[in-house]
Amino acid sequence: MHTIIEPFRIKSVEKIKFTTIEDREKILEKAYYNPFLIPAEDVLIDLLTDSGTSAMSAQQWAGIMDGDESYAGSRSYFRFEEVTKKIFGYKHIIPVHQGRAAERILFTNFLSKTDENGNLIMTGRSKGIPNNNHFDTTRANIEFNDAEAVDLVIEEGKHPATIHPFKGNIDLVKLEEYIQKKGAENIPVIMLTITNNAGGGQPVSMENIRKTGEIAKKHGIPFFMDACRFAENAYFIKLREKGYENKCILEIAQEMFSYTDGCTMSAKKDAFANIGGFVAMNDEELYTRCRNLLIITEGFETYGGLAGRDMEAIAQGLEEILDEHYLQYRIRSTAYLGDKLTANGIPIILPVGGHAIYVDAKEFLSHIPVEQYPGQALVCELFRMGGIRSVEIGSIMFGKYDKDGKMVPADMELVRLAIPRRVYTQSHIDYVAEVFIELKNNKDKIKGVKIIEEPKFLRHFTSKFSLV
Ligand SMILES: *Cc1c(COP(=O)(O)O)cnc(C)c1O
Repeated sequence: MHTIIEPFRIKSVEKIKFTTIEDREKILEKAYYNPFLIPAEDVLIDLLTDSGTSAMSAQQWAGIMDGDESYAGSRSYFRFEEVTKKIFGYKHIIPVHQGRAAERILFTNFLSKTDENGNLIMTGRSKGIPNNNHFDTTRANIEFNDAEAVDLVIEEGKHPATIHPFKGNIDLVKLEEYIQKKGAENIPVIMLTITNNAGGGQPVSMENIRKTGEIAKKHGIPFFMDACRFAENAYFIKLREKGYENKCILEIAQEMFSYTDGCTMSAKKDAFANIGGFVAMNDEELYTRCRNLLIITEGFETYGGLAGRDMEAIAQGLEEILDEHYLQYRIRSTAYLGDKLTANGIPIILPVGGHAIYVDAKEFLSHIPVEQYPGQALVCELFRMGGIRSVEIGSIMFGKYDKDGKMVPADMELVRLAIPRRVYTQSHIDYVAEVFIELKNNKDKIKGVKIIEEPKFLRHFTSKFSLV
């Protein structure tokens, strides 16, 4: 067996800026200890997200030049439609500017009805939408419509150190129980996020997808996929699930989607695009309603808020993501960082997921109480020590307050190191591991943080913090 190597060579590069610890302390203070408020120029290794940060291929850039910018019926739209229909198989594909636009359009329709004057009446209050784990924007778009976003991931998925091949699976027993309790009529859609971003980038098995589809059908509830990282999920199925060893990624993806009624997708993930997404479905009436809403707020249905060139880049990216040499490199290079951290005693979610390493900050910084957000503290220290930007996925992103204003923490306090696609080399990743090892030696001195300003929804993006 040879070493797995990058299945590409580099044609164009971007300079990155080096700063000192003193510089970074000032930068952090100015950014109120929130990584989203740090100017990207001041970051050395940017692992904030894998969203929209991929390096595009020469063919994608060629597609950007070749994009057709016609308002209606653009050639680039038809190429986008052809590729997405081949992989996802749905009757209707509606482009949007990114994943959350797809979520807003879909949930607004599932959580409203139209009165006799054609006005939307919101009906979310008594409704609930289950998922393995809702990601931040998905949860926010459901809660913004007054409905309940319910996480039903299997128990193994809540314990960082527990090994399971498909930790992203939804708990089918809990799903049935939830449907019984809530009533099928109050559940407009069942979602499944592949891979499960909020729960460690963990895959969902084909069996779990199929059985979720059966439960949904039995109760007459539509079943939609949050498909951002469908190709990484398909590759894990190929590696870990019996019967799929010899199937190609396209076949596995087609089977996954065959059990569902539609999907939302952010093309900023597994389509290697810098912007874009889509919402897709088979149902005619839902399609008509979504299209009408799209035209009010995003654009005509053959561009949905994107430029023609963006659809060209997405179509090309979706062809490229099906390449097994790429997926082998992708999954291996994520695991490479995970292996290095594990070997040095840094607790992470195991097994390593697809697009990111998730450090268990509650365990690693056990001297910091959850009320002082150990994840955010680690995010800040990683930047201070090494200029590495990451993100907290814990009680800042998903924590809540009860009626008495007391904090209800998230299940896990994680720090996500998301790996942009085709961007960093092995020595960049070695550097990240070195910073962690250095940081570990003084970890007991790391201080917690407190929130000094926060909005109601998606607070991690704009909150301000100070050190405790
Ligand atoms: C990124 C992401 C979204 C939202 O997509 P945007 O393009 O950022 O709006 C939704 N769900 C999951 C699982 C994601 O990773």
